Parts: sequence; structure tokens; C-alpha cells
Amino acid sequence: MTSPPARGAKFPLRLDEVGSAPNSSRAVLRPQRLLAHAHRDATRRIAPGGLGLDSDDVRMRMVQRLRGIGVVNEQVLEAMATVQRHRFVDSALVTQAYEDTSLPIGHGQTISKPSVVARMIELLFGGANARRGGHLGRTLEIGTGCGYQAAVLSAVSQHVVSVERLRPLHDKARELLAQMRPVHLRLVYGDGMLGHPPNAPYDSIIAAAGGDALPPAWLEQLAVGGRLVSPLRKAGTQQQVLVVVDRTEQGCKHTVFEAVNFVPLRSGLGT
Ligand code: SAH
Repeated sequence: MTSPPARGAKFPLRLDEVGSAPNSSRAVLRPQRLLAHAHRDATRRIAPGGLGLDSDDVRMRMVQRLRGIGVVNEQVLEAMATVQRHRFVDSALVTQAYEDTSLPIGHGQTISKPSVVARMIELLFGGANARRGGHLGRTLEIGTGCGYQAAVLSAVSQHVVSVERLRPLHDKARELLAQMRPVHLRLVYGDGMLGHPPNAPYDSIIAAAGGDALPPAWLEQLAVGGRLVSPLRKAGTQQQVLVVVDRTEQGCKHTVFEAVNFVPLRSGLGT
């Protein structure tokens, strides 16, 4: 930041006419930054706390906050500590990447809040999945968006299929995730309301968008002993809640959890 001109100084200023503020360095007037430098400065990956976003510490702070709000599953916390969320958000927003906030990713969609991602994946670890030995098995995600949650899921699953109906988001996630090379992750451009039959059945299904009803395909593609977590609009209201469905030999058991606020689940493909 440049210091203001000294009181009484006339324009154009010469360097020797500018007084130094007490204790400031001598170079009070810095030359104008080249546009390219200014742009680089604007995208400098430094979190508000002064930590570089590539540093593990910045994610550990986020994990501490997740613990503080009651996330206890160590696999989930470890995955959240590993995946670099700032790589999934627009460069103008990177300094907010580790705050507990959802951020725009374009096309009217958002990256989910870290606390919501952690909460939903922790819920997936319940039911019969708790007996699977520390991973979620075969996982289906509906709504890839920027790919952040898909990356977290791939750290705790045997295999992940993630479906997105908006082509530009699918393409962007594909490009981003290719650089990170998460294992056993398949990105599909398609209507997630139909699930993804080629890899069914799934032990875990997670939706990042909520509709008025759970699409029948999801329940059909949920393995016996599998668990589904999804936002769902309460009938006759605008309020969404998280629902968990456990599929057993006898059928499906639904449990309703807290209120949430997800983007709408839409049918068909978008461009
Ligand atoms: N999983 C993302 C959040 C994405 S927001 C994260 O990691 O933060 C929800 C996404 O669901 C949007 O990209 C939206 O386009 C997508 N979506 C909505 N309806 C869908 C459908 N029927 N099939 C696939 N994706 C859908």
C-alpha cells in the first residue's frame, strides 16, 4: 500500500517531496505495479491468518473448527485435512476457501460449506456402513459441481462415481481433479436423478442438490446394507431437511435430520 502524499505536497510529486510517516520505511512511494503483478498479488494464496493456502496448517485449523462443531469421524476429518479446497474455488475467492461458507462456482451453483460436507459424509458412515471397516465402499455422488466433495469422498471410498448435469461444471471438475489424480473416481456428465446404473449397486449415495422427493432410481441402486444421505424439501413447505435412508432386506428406513439449504435438484441435462 502506498502512503498518502505528505500534507501540502503538490502534484506531480517527486520522491524527495514526500515525507515518511513515523517509523515507516523510506520507500514510501512505490512505483505502480504492472498489471500482471497486480493480478498476481490479487490472487496470492494467503489466508487471512497469514498462512499460505498450500500449507497443511490452514486446513488443520478448519479441521479444528469442524471438531468444535461436533464432527468426530477421524476418516472424515483426515480427508478434509488433505483435500485442498482453495483449488476448487475461483481465484478471487481463495482467501475464503477455508471459512465455513458456501461460495459461488458459476452457473448459479455453489461449493458446499465444509461443515455440511463433513456432516453428510459422517452420516454416510453410520448404519451398516459403520461395519465396513473405515471406508464407504462404492459411492455415488449426485451433483459434482466443482468436484470438491468428490475429492473428499474418494479419500474415504473404495470407488466413487459422481454425476453432474451441467456440462461446463463437469468439464471444469474433470480438469481440476485430473491434476490431483484421486484414485477410483469416475466423473459422469448426465442426469443424476437416474443415478448411474452401470456401477450400481452403491453402498453409499450422497446428493448435493435437493428436490421434492427422492428419485426412485437412487433407492433402486442403493445396495442392501447401503445408506443414502440427501437434502429433501418438506412437503408443502420451502424448507429442506437432511434425510438418511438405510436399505435393509426388509425395505427402506428413513430418518430425518436437521434443516439445510441446498441448490435444487433438476431433471435432465443442462449446458
Ligand atoms: N458437490 C459440490 C456441490 C455442488 S452444488 C461440492 O463439492 O461443493 C450441486 C450441484 O448439483 C450443481 O452443480 C448442480 O448442477 C447439480 N445438480 C442438480 N441437479 C442435478 C441432477 N439431476 N444431476 C446431476 N447434477 C445435478
